[in-house]
Formats: sequence, structure tokens, C-alpha cells
Amino acid sequence: EEDAALLALEPEDYDPDAPLQLDPVLAIVGRPNVGKSTLVNRILGRREAVVEDTPGVTRDRVMYSATWNGRGFTLVDTGGWEHDARGIHARVADQAEIAVDMADAVLLVVDATVGATATDEAIVQMLRKKKKPVILVANKVDDIQNEADASTLWGLGFGQPWPVSALHGRGTGDMLDQALEVLPKFSAHGGLERSGGPRRVALIGRPNVGKSSLLNKLAGSDRVVVDPLAGTTRDPVDEMIELDGRVWRFVDTAGIRRRVHMAQGADFYASLRTQSALEKAEVAVVLLAVDEVLSEQDIRILNLAMESGRALVLAFNKWDLMDDERRKYLEREIEQDLAHVEWAPRVNISALTGWHKDRLTPALDRALESWDTRIPTGRLNAFLGELVAAHPHPVRGGKQPRILFGTQASSRPPKFVLFTTGFLDPGYRRFIQRRLRETFGFEGTPIEVAMRVRE
Ligand code: GDP
Ligand code: GDP
Repeated sequence: EEDAALLALEPEDYDPDAPLQLDPVLAIVGRPNVGKSTLVNRILGRREAVVEDTPGVTRDRVMYSATWNGRGFTLVDTGGWEHDARGIHARVADQAEIAVDMADAVLLVVDATVGATATDEAIVQMLRKKKKPVILVANKVDDIQNEADASTLWGLGFGQPWPVSALHGRGTGDMLDQALEVLPKFSAHGGLERSGGPRRVALIGRPNVGKSSLLNKLAGSDRVVVDPLAGTTRDPVDEMIELDGRVWRFVDTAGIRRRVHMAQGADFYASLRTQSALEKAEVAVVLLAVDEVLSEQDIRILNLAMESGRALVLAFNKWDLMDDERRKYLEREIEQDLAHVEWAPRVNISALTGWHKDRLTPALDRALESWDTRIPTGRLNAFLGELVAAHPHPVRGGKQPRILFGTQASSRPPKFVLFTTGFLDPGYRRFIQRRLRETFGFEGTPIEVAMRVRE
């Protein structure tokens, strides 16, 4: 039985030739108040995800992992972003367009109790041009009497309207069955190249930290190849840039180069780009600008990168603007606000002058090497044995949990599982994490330590 448990945990071995396959993307669009957020919550099955919005606070997360009938897909939620768009039909449609461009299929949500409005029509016009599969969701059909309302929506030209009540869950199952029917197995926007190819880098950071300057500097001085495979709708999505004699794939660079004009959509777009780039990347470079104090937005972006499980490098940009005063301050900020990522390599650069841009690739290499690391089971258990002998878990209520065995369940990023005879204190788990880092390095990668308690 023990063997079976361990076997189940044996790493899904990394196959360097397997293509990168991302879950298909389903975008939920519609005008304000039709029930998009309610529908997102219904699909995710957790209320807190979207509802807890505070007006005026920029939301970070716009992409969510969802499953239906055992199939995974990514949901892009445009709800809650357009409330301050001043009722201009075109604006709502513009913003929806961003989400639609990166989607494999679209849920168009309409309020069946109201019928199609001019704003709905503007969205319909936009969707027609995109030629992507559209599921027409007739929402707020709370009971059978309202189903007649839904049938008026046939006129929108997207076939059968699916009558649902996002609020009560009525009809959402059938509608999702249909959505999965039209979604491809994998996203067409993931760059389906062999993952044995160039390593994939995401440049992220808040507006004006210097992402596009850095991209230009890196690309400008070296050979730039526009990748013909990655081009989706109009822009090449990724750029292949040769640095230090090796080609790197900078993902989602169209998003960096494209300037977002609409004031209303900018935050939404920035969040979407950050998450989408992280999803496609193996390593993230989070840019921070040293001429300004670290902002909440910087930290939120950093946290998104950490949560994504990608390798991580911090780039302190605009170093040409550095002075002694600011330097002292920055050191304090790093200690206070970046303590939780002290494992990430830091490079000081100037995207403007190109100063230290050659420091980037060694940092990327270190982070990726850690991310890929696999500690052999024997070595891991020797490490655990020594650690436990020198620092046993404190006795709790007359009992002392023991670690029986450990294994690295996966890499990219490294995840460890410890089999124990009882619950380990969070403090003790953090201690193990710290020791893992001290012993094995892991510079530039998040690591995870999980526990399996044996009775
Ligand atoms: P969004 O702006 O499109 O994200 O819309 P919301 O999800 O915030 O919903 C707008 C309003 O419609 C809220 O008061 C919801 O409670 C309500 N609502 C959403 N779905 C339904 C539904 O299926 N039936 C009814 N009766 N109300 C709904
Ligand atoms: P993005 O919004 O993150 O893509 O930022 P940009 O690359 O557009 O840069 C925003 C502004 O910061 C522009 O005016 C750049 O010229 C400036 N900038 C970018 N990098 C540097 C740098 O290293 N030093 C200085 N002094 N300015 C920079």
C-alpha cells in the first residue's frame, strides 16, 4: 500500500519534447449588469473570487482556472471593469474585444428580461468580425415562465440562445456543456512550439517601469526574428531575441508594444497581459523602477508572478537615475517589502542606456536552472535525516510528529511531499523550506513543501 501511495506521487516526468499546451480560453463578455460576474462565480463555484470587489480598487485577477466535467479551461472575466465606462457603447465593445482576441470561444451574456440593447448590438458587431465560436447566454431566466424572453434573442444571429439563471444556477450546466463542445482541446494562443525550444520569458511590471524600453534595447542591438508561427490575429505575439549567442522567446510582446489608448480599458488590459504572459512563460522578469518608491501595484504584480509558479528575476530599472539618497531608501524598501522574494536574483539595469543589460541572461539562466532542478530521492532523504536528527520537531501535546520519507513530486517549480506521522507546525515547515534553500540553492524559483499525514 505504501508503494502504491509513492507510485502515485512519482513525478509526471518532464518530457522535453512535449509541446506546450495551455488550457483553452473562454471569455465572458457583455454590457454592464447583465450578470457576467455572477456567472463567473457560478462557474468557479466560489463566491469570494469576484464579489469582494471594492469600488475604486484595481482588481488584479481577470483570468481564472476552471473545470467542467473534468476538463480544464481558462475563464477571462471582463465583468466589474467597465462600471466607470460612461455608457458609451463603443467603449464597452472595445474592452470586450481585448478579451475576445485572446479567447478560443466567447460567452456573450445578454439580459433576457431586457432584451438586446444598443450596447449589446455594438458587441455583436464586434464579435461578427472575429469569427470565433460564440455561445449566446440569455441570463436572468430564473424560471420557466421567462424562457419566452430568451427566444427573442435568436435575432442576434448567434443561433440558439441558452436560457440560464446565473444567480440560481438554472441551465448553466447545459450551457457549459455546449461551451466545452465548441472549445478546442488546447488554446490556439499558447504558442504550441516544442518546449525544448527557446526558453520563454515574460517581461512584466506596472505601466512606465520600462518594459518596452528594455524590449527595444534587447531586440535593437541584436538580431530580431519575428516568429511567423506565433502570429495570431494581427500582431506577432512573441519575439525571438538572440542574447549571448542564444535565442530567447519573449512572450506576449505585442501586448508591450501595443499602446492602449482607451483610458477605461487600461487597467483591465494591463492585468490581462500580465497574467496571460505569465501563463505562457517559464521565467518572469519583474521590472521595478528605482526612481520611484515601490508601489502597491508593483507588489501586486510581483505576487501574481510568485503565485504563477514561474521562475523569477527582479530587474531594478532606471538605475541611471539613482543617487545616494534614493539608494539608502531603496535598500530599506527591499528589506521591508521584498523580504518574501529574497531568493530571486536581482539585476540593476538601465533600459535607456543599456547599462548592465548583459546581466539579464545569467540571472535568467540561474533562475531557470533552479526551476528545473530535481533532487534525487536518496539525496533528499539524506538531507531530511540530518535535518531531523539535528533539529527534531518540537513535542506537541506529548506527541512528536516524525518525517518518514520525502520525495520531490515535480519540478518547474520544485514541489516536495513529506510523509509524516502527524501535522508539522507551519514554523517547522518554513524551517525546512529555508534549509532546502540553504542546501540546494533554488535561487530564482519558488518551492513548495506539502505534507501527507499517515495515521
Ligand atoms: P455584470 O456587471 O455583468 O458583471 O453583472 P453582475 O453579475 O454584477 O449582476 C448585475 C445584477 O444582476 C446583480 O444585482 C445580480 O444579482 C443580478 N443578476 C445576475 N444574474 C442574475 C440572474 O440570473 N437572475 C436575476 N434575477 N438576477 C441576476
Ligand atoms: P513601459 O510602460 O513599462 O513599457 O515603460 P516604457 O518603456 O514605455 O518607459 C516609460 C518611460 O520611462 C519612458 O519615458 C522611458 O524613456 C523611460 N525609461 C525607461 N527605462 C528607463 C531607464 O532605464 N532610465 C530612464 N532614465 N528612463 C527610462
